[in-house]
Amino acid sequence: MTTTYDAIILGAGHNGLVTAAYLAKAGYKVLVLERRDIIGGCCITEELWPGFKVSTAAYVNSLLRPEIIRDLELKKHGFEMLPRSPSSFSPFPDGRYLMMGPDKDMTHKEIAKFSTKDAENYPKYEAMLTRVADFLEPMLTQTPPDPFGGLWNLWKLGKLGMGFRRLGRDAGSEAVEILTGAARPILDRWFESEELKATIATDAVIGAFAPPSHPGTAYVLFHHVMGECNGVRGVWGYVRGGMGMVSNSIAAAAKSYGAEIRTNAEVGQILVKDGRVQGVALKDGTEFHAKRIASNADAHVTFLKLMDAKDLPEGFISAIKRIDYSSATVKINVAIDRPPNWKALPSDGKVGPQHHGTMHVCPDQDYIERAFDDAKYGRWARDPMIECTMATALDDTLAPPGKHILSMFVQYAPYHLKDTTWEVEKDRFADRCFDLLEEYAPGFKSSVLHRMVIPPPDMEKMWGITGGNIMQGSMNLHSMFSFRPAAGYANYRTPVKGLYLCGAAAHPGGGVMGACGLNAAREMIRDG
Ligand SMILES: Cc1cc2nc3c(=O)[nH]c(=O)nc-3n(C[C@H](O)[C@H](O)[C@H](O)COP(=O)(O)OP(=O)(O)OC[C@H]3O[C@@H](n4cnc5c(N)ncnc54)[C@H](O)[C@@H]3O)c2cc1C
Repeated sequence: MTTTYDAIILGAGHNGLVTAAYLAKAGYKVLVLERRDIIGGCCITEELWPGFKVSTAAYVNSLLRPEIIRDLELKKHGFEMLPRSPSSFSPFPDGRYLMMGPDKDMTHKEIAKFSTKDAENYPKYEAMLTRVADFLEPMLTQTPPDPFGGLWNLWKLGKLGMGFRRLGRDAGSEAVEILTGAARPILDRWFESEELKATIATDAVIGAFAPPSHPGTAYVLFHHVMGECNGVRGVWGYVRGGMGMVSNSIAAAAKSYGAEIRTNAEVGQILVKDGRVQGVALKDGTEFHAKRIASNADAHVTFLKLMDAKDLPEGFISAIKRIDYSSATVKINVAIDRPPNWKALPSDGKVGPQHHGTMHVCPDQDYIERAFDDAKYGRWARDPMIECTMATALDDTLAPPGKHILSMFVQYAPYHLKDTTWEVEKDRFADRCFDLLEEYAPGFKSSVLHRMVIPPPDMEKMWGITGGNIMQGSMNLHSMFSFRPAAGYANYRTPVKGLYLCGAAAHPGGGVMGACGLNAAREMIRDG
């Protein structure tokens, strides 16, 4: 058995697979080692119940970089986007609803039901985001400079500064607020309708342990508009066959270039000698050697669990220990025998436009704040914010005819519960979510065939993500760009020569984007 490779990728998340594919394409002999029996990390499709193929974790796509789709010929390997139109449906307790995008005329009419002023402002708000995105988006596939590094870094920072100047004073100020500020004051300034603001605000908090009034949430909101679907900016879509098809198509590309992928291969230790990486040892003791290792695991797992502290500088270890892994998101995957029959727009058992996009249970911004308050004090939210998606509305490959999969992404529910445990609370929390959905869509509870409830500690166990943080570490400004995962190490390299980070723990962070993997591969190839 060959045990020596040019490069070993620790973890077959979609980012690790991207790194593997680019390295293999460049002629490297590559081995990918994945601890689970399935590749993809948080970007997977699993047949949880006979005939039901579920995107167990990530469920919608927009962020996957178009250059990766092109370079790796992912469409040839089975990747296909299914754009969602409408993209969202928000029913409200008073019986009204708001349906949005990407059809601009429809969105205008829908928003005008609540406020004609907001309907006029919405395209201007989108244009503002686009201006800022035009400045920030190219950075996603760039290696961040080190503000404390040598002259070359200063030159790169200067170039960034020049790009920022080109935004002009007004857009520049807005960009700074988006990067550092809270979503709520921005939305309150732009719009008057709570229904519209609450619908947009859901994107500002998803995956974050923060309400929309907290600094940092504006960037989370923005992070969600930086992608595209089949070339249309800001549009999210389903992936035919579920999110696992993202990972599977990247893996197929990697294999076509010669990469080898092994599952059920959990790395127990990263081997280091004299400050240089040597290889890895699996939990069962098998060793593989390479002078380049890229870790797709998060920074906590990579440096604090798989390495000996003596191989890392103390300051670096302290910086890794400072990463915020708090999380308050629960995923509930449900198989149902009919689509939810929303009181605000009944469809009598049929699939309608209201089922195409994200269906929000979130009446206003205060509702989100109160849900967060519960979590802040160690309780799951009595009235949680729920995002439902039903990919089967557009994809008939996922469930038996007439049946559907509902993905419920719910906030807030903290990792650490006060005076109780998730073992005890998991089903109580899911029951509360189902009761809530029943109020908005009568008959929902009797439509449920199966359910899987995944609170943060279970996410940690299943996907190896510390604290159940879906982004491999929070996306606060102090943990972004030149500071992700730690100042001085945002260029995918680590204090150990030959060891790289290639997953969401590195710039530009979480989401099914592939950019971390792409950037890491570029730097590894640059090092030769
Ligand atoms: C519930 C949930 C919902 C989400 N929804 C969305 C969404 O809809 N859209 C979106 O864009 N993003 C979403 N995200 C975020 C997104 O899925 C992640 O940020 C992204 O998939 C991270 O990819 P990655 O390849 O960097 O890391 P991961 O997916 O975390 O992959 C890391 C891999 O390393 C493996 N590994 C770890 N330790 C070892 C070891 N010791 N030995 C071998 N292998 C190891 C893991 O098993 C895993 O396969 C969601 C995440 C979660 C958890």
